[in-house]
Amino acid sequence: MVNFRKNIQKMQGYVPGEQPPSGAQVIKLNTNENPYPPSPEVMRLLLTFEADWLRRYPQPDAMLVREAAAEVYGVPVDCIMAANGSDEMLAILARAFLDSGSKVAYPAPTYSLYTNLAEMQDADVVEIPYNEDYDLPVQELLEVQANLTFVCSPNNPSGTLAANSDLEQLAAGLQGVLVIDEAYCDFAEQNALELVLRHENVIVLRTLSKGYSLAGLRLGLGIAAPELLAGLAKIKDSYNVDAFALRLGAAALRDQAWMRAQATEIKLGREELATALTNLGCKVWPSQANFLMITPPNSDAGSLYRHLREHGIIVRYWDEPRLVDKMRITVGSEDENQVLLTELKELLRS
Ligand SMILES: *Cc1c(COP(=O)(O)O)cnc(C)c1O
Repeated sequence: MVNFRKNIQKMQGYVPGEQPPSGAQVIKLNTNENPYPPSPEVMRLLLTFEADWLRRYPQPDAMLVREAAAEVYGVPVDCIMAANGSDEMLAILARAFLDSGSKVAYPAPTYSLYTNLAEMQDADVVEIPYNEDYDLPVQELLEVQANLTFVCSPNNPSGTLAANSDLEQLAAGLQGVLVIDEAYCDFAEQNALELVLRHENVIVLRTLSKGYSLAGLRLGLGIAAPELLAGLAKIKDSYNVDAFALRLGAAALRDQAWMRAQATEIKLGREELATALTNLGCKVWPSQANFLMITPPNSDAGSLYRHLREHGIIVRYWDEPRLVDKMRITVGSEDENQVLLTELKELLRS
């Protein structure tokens, strides 16, 4: 008999999207990966990788990648922290600010990892439901005054963007820390990075997993005031960013032109897909991310999801109250989007 802490015993654990074996003949539109390859600079650097970079421990302060991020974002290097994916940044934040009885608040539905991290710390979760338009419920979140407030923008799974004026109001009125998870900001028309310069309780999270096509590398970034990051640095693993992520991540960040070009393609694909799906009778939420949340015409998202799967197309579906009639579709390459539309037309007709 193994005696876990009570809250660990109770919790379910995060359920990641399905990852079919590589080489499987499926069109994978379920975990918001980028359909295009990472920067050629990354692949070139990989070929020159030195054995010594692997023999030795990597930089504990991840300076190589932080310097690149500081250049790209135009902020001082001590306003940047790097981690093993933005999921690790989220976990570090939970460990730093939550213990038994602390409060976590976020508008829902959103990224379900926030719930798991709260449960791990035995914190109390206050979910504020989004309205149908996914406007940020600023007043309700302010009333909770949680130790940690998460806002995902653009939001996963809706793709909708929080207004900067709403985020500013939230930042100014919260005593606790506001985490703005911008995993999809590379596909959005605006971001909230500048809030970090005016509010010492705000941290903005970025990742190289989506915009930079590097989900396999595991590199995420936190941007915040130096005092906040100094506290987080105390509890991170010493070598949380490995030798590959340090160097390849820096190269990817410095190739902004490549990232932007792929993002432009994806945004075009997103708009085409949104129009086509609307014409098929689907409700499509306005997305600023690399995915679309839709409700099919008969609202039976569950059986549409299963039928798509039988035809080799995997999208994301959640059998839970707010999302039963919806699915989240990652924008793929032009070819993938076409195959998806062809299948959907067939399925919605029958
Ligand atoms: C994909 C995703 C992440 C995970 O990013 P990693 O850097 O791959 O850990 C974080 N937040 C949201 C909302 C995401 O959708």
